[in-house]
Amino acid sequence: MKTHVAKQILLNHRPTGTPDSDTWKLAEKTLPPLQDSEFLVKNDYISVDPAMRGWIRDRSSYIEPVAIGEVMRALAVGTVIESRNANFPVGLVVEGRFGVTDYAISKGEMVRGIDTDIAPAPTWLGALGMPGLTAYFGLTEVGKVSPGDTLLVSAAAGAVGSIAGQIGKALGATVIGIAGGPRKCEWVKTTLGFDEAIDYKSPSFAKQLHAVAPNGVDVYFDNVGGPILEAALNNLALGARIVICGAIANYNAETPPPGPANYMSLLVKRASMTGFVVLDYEDRADEAIAQITDWMNEGVIHAADHVVEGGINAFPEALTQLFTGQNLGKVVLSVPN
Ligand code: NDP
Repeated sequence: MKTHVAKQILLNHRPTGTPDSDTWKLAEKTLPPLQDSEFLVKNDYISVDPAMRGWIRDRSSYIEPVAIGEVMRALAVGTVIESRNANFPVGLVVEGRFGVTDYAISKGEMVRGIDTDIAPAPTWLGALGMPGLTAYFGLTEVGKVSPGDTLLVSAAAGAVGSIAGQIGKALGATVIGIAGGPRKCEWVKTTLGFDEAIDYKSPSFAKQLHAVAPNGVDVYFDNVGGPILEAALNNLALGARIVICGAIANYNAETPPPGPANYMSLLVKRASMTGFVVLDYEDRADEAIAQITDWMNEGVIHAADHVVEGGINAFPEALTQLFTGQNLGKVVLSVPN
C-alpha cells in the first residue's frame, strides 16, 4: 500500500470581514494506513460555496463551525483509489464531504456513488448536486411555484440561481433574473432562457424591475438579501412567497445590517418569507436528481460549471470569486492528479 501525502487547506484564523491570506494555511499531511471499512478518495473537483463563509464563523448555525486547524469543510467529487469497504470499491466515483484536500479517508457516511456517464463530474457538484437540489426544493416545496406565476431570482447567473430560474421556466412560470452586469444578464437570457434579466448595478434597476413585473412577483427566490431584497419587497404581488435561500450580500459583514426597512410590504401584500436548508431534503435527493437529469436530457436545463484551475492552492482565490461575482454557474476547484 502506497503512503499518500495529502495537500490540504486548514482554517488558520477566523477572518474579520472578507477572508484574507491569514485565514487559510496550506499544509501537508501523511495519511495513515486504511482501517477496516475505510476507503481512500482522490478528489477530482472540490465545491466552492458561499456557505463556507458562514462555516468559518464562530457562531451557532444549522451546522457546527469548522474548528481552527481543521481541514476546510467542502463537498467534493473524487475517485476511490484504495478500499477496505466493499460498498465503495476502487474505481468508484463518489461525492461526499471530503474537504479541501487532494486525498481524503472516508467510511462512507453521507457519500454517494455517482455516474459520470449521466453528467461530467463537476455537474454532480452543481445542477445534480447541492445547488440543483436547493433550487428544486426551494421552488417546489417552499416557493410552491405554479404555472402562470411570475418568479424573480437573484444571483441568477450563479450555481443555485441559474438552475432555479430554469426550473421555474419548466414549471410554467415567467422568470425574471437579477444579476450583476450586462454580460451576465445577456447570458441569463440567451443561454439560460429567462424571460427577462436585470442588472442590479444599473442606476435604473428599481425602475426596470417595476417595468418587467408591473403586477408584482408571485415568488421571489432570494439568494442575496440586502438592497435587492428591499427592491423585491417593493414589487410583490398579492399572496407572494419569498424563499430565503441565502443572503450573500451580508456574509462578510461583522454586524448584520438591520432587516429590510420595508418589511411591512409583507402585511400589505399578505405575503410570506420562509427560510429553508437543503440538508432537510437529503432523503429526497434521488427524486430531484432524476427530475433534473430528465430536464437536462430534454434540453430544458443547461448546467454551467465554472472550473477554477490551480488545485488546492487556488482555493482562497476560488472562494473570493463568489463574492466578487466572477462566476457564471457553479464554482468548482479542479484538483490535478
Ligand atoms: P453563486 O454561484 O450564486 O455565487 C454567488 C453570486 O452572488 C456571485 O456570482 C454574485 O453574482 C452574487 N453576489 C455576490 N455578492 C453580492 C452582493 N453583494 N449583492 C448581490 N449579489 C452578490 O453561489 P451559490 O449559487 O452557490 O449560492 C447562492 C446563494 O444560495 C448563497 O446565498 C448561498 O448561501 C445560498 N445557498 C443556500 C442553501 C440552502 O440550503 N438554503 C444551499 C446552497 C446555497 P453577481 O455578479 O450577479 O453579483
